[in-house]
Amino acid sequence: MTRRFDAIVVGCGIAGAATAFFLARRGMAIAVYDRDGPASGGTGLSAAIVRQHYSTPLMARMAKAAVDIFRDAASILGRDAGYRRVGYVFLTPPDALDATRRVLAMQQELGIASELIGPDDLVSRLPWLDPDGVAAAAFEPDGGFADPETATTAFLEAAREKGAVAYFKTPVRGLMRRGDRITGILTDEGEVIAGIVVNAAGPWAAPLAASAGLPLTMRAVREQDTVWEARPDRPLPATSVSNAVDAIYVRPLGNRRFIVGRGFPKAYADVDPYNYKRTADPEFIADVQQRLTTRMPGFEGARLIHSYAALYDVTADWYQYVGPREGIAGYADFNGGSGHGFKVAPAIAQELAGWLAEGTVADDFRRLSHDRVARNELFVQSYGGNRG
Ligand SMILES: Cc1cc2nc3c(=O)[nH]c(=O)nc-3n(C[C@H](O)[C@H](O)[C@H](O)COP(=O)(O)OP(=O)(O)OC[C@H]3O[C@@H](n4cnc5c(N)ncnc54)[C@H](O)[C@@H]3O)c2cc1C
Repeated sequence: MTRRFDAIVVGCGIAGAATAFFLARRGMAIAVYDRDGPASGGTGLSAAIVRQHYSTPLMARMAKAAVDIFRDAASILGRDAGYRRVGYVFLTPPDALDATRRVLAMQQELGIASELIGPDDLVSRLPWLDPDGVAAAAFEPDGGFADPETATTAFLEAAREKGAVAYFKTPVRGLMRRGDRITGILTDEGEVIAGIVVNAAGPWAAPLAASAGLPLTMRAVREQDTVWEARPDRPLPATSVSNAVDAIYVRPLGNRRFIVGRGFPKAYADVDPYNYKRTADPEFIADVQQRLTTRMPGFEGARLIHSYAALYDVTADWYQYVGPREGIAGYADFNGGSGHGFKVAPAIAQELAGWLAEGTVADDFRRLSHDRVARNELFVQSYGGNRG
């Protein structure tokens, strides 16, 4: 007998798991499909820095709402979602100081706690920092990081408790389409019918959409990260750090270990998402190490523990594609995290679920639909990229 669900979510990264939860919480019959397992895509390798430092009210609002969800996970999900409120620091170069001040002003209007640490206080407040060339630092007490696997599993398990079912090691081979409606999915076990299919397949979302003739403007680019263990008794950051002066990000792992990656500006290499090099390049590791130890001398002599490469699913303007599209029923996007999608995913999932189930959606959130590409209404025409 053909299976039927109110909604099918393809992909069990943070986007798919959170969407499944917020839909299942409404009493809808939900199925999640992943060709591997929970957090097996970009989510599992994410630095998962949590920050609310965004330049648009929409994303700052999402980031704040997501912090609220992470913080209240015990009551919302019935379990910890791996969020650690260790704080977040954004190091600002002189030419970005005005933009940073504008972000802080907007954050304060939205009720986001943040402060600017001026040049006179940098050394006393951030003893791990070489302040040369740093104009100021923005500090968010509610920033930090989350464990991405714990977060994904928390949403998945909570969704299951609301009746959702998950099928792992089950690739979705294609979307089924009849006229202007997506009617379900095709798996190796056969067809599965759904009222709506949410494409949360991350860097693999474009081929899935293409199976039903839907365009999805997305690049898959390779993102390398390194893990370092610092020597004992050195001044080290306790917070997550986006260092826009030297274009690196730093995320504490505990036990003097840190994830360190490169932020914008840098070169982005397009790759085949099904076949790319998963180890980091020696030149990348050397470059990151040099940038790290120059700015944070406590990392001198640090030991490389691990390095790897994963994927960013990059959209036309580095904002996610979320929601239904005009002219096609039974389908919604939630993909294109563009290297910063972990932290905001819970809040985006919450609003997406309201849009799909009740038809209620804020005007600025509606703009996240992939329709903005065809209309040439991108959020930004040229935007360099993420900062973690
Ligand atoms: C190295 C790295 C560092 C990052 N650092 C940060 C950070 O510090 N802060 C932040 O906010 N964001 C960060 N990001 C971005 C963030 O991690 C991602 O945007 C987010 O995790 C993407 O989640 P997702 O659920 O959309 O996609 P994914 O986690 O990629 O999940 C997609 C899932 O779909 C499944 N799938 C694909 N195709 C199919 C199919 N046909 N059938 C069935 N299943 C399928 C895959 O197996 C996968 O599990 C980082 C990303 C990377 C790679």
